[in-house]
Amino acid sequence: MQSPDTVFHKILRKELPATVEYEDDTVLVFRDIHPKALTHLLFVPKQFVASIADLTSVTEHLPGLLILKAQKFAKEKGIEGYKLTFHVGKGGGQEVPYLHLHFLSEQKL
Ligand code: AMP
Repeated sequence: MQSPDTVFHKILRKELPATVEYEDDTVLVFRDIHPKALTHLLFVPKQFVASIADLTSVTEHLPGLLILKAQKFAKEKGIEGYKLTFHVGKGGGQEVPYLHLHFLSEQKL
């Protein structure tokens, strides 16, 4: 099956604007366009998988990678408390079928 071309693919290709807070070879971090907390970021892996529900042995490392990137980012920015969430599937509130970790904090970046 062909991969979908989601809004996050377009942000990763820099075809759509985003407020990028961090980028490296494996991950892009940008502000959620409809923030649900004072700081609401999305951690998106550069390697595509649609959802936690679609993980395979090839992509099983991605959730851990995103969580570790979020932990390092929070440490560097001095953010002490935050919530990390994966929405899984439409029934789980996932709108964009590209794996991403929500990072929410009431501490300002
Ligand atoms: P989810 O419901 O887990 O799929 O989360 C998708 C998130 O992406 C939502 O919180 C949206 O507000 C956010 N979002 C959608 N389009 C954009 C965009 N162009 N830039 C930044 N965030 C976006």
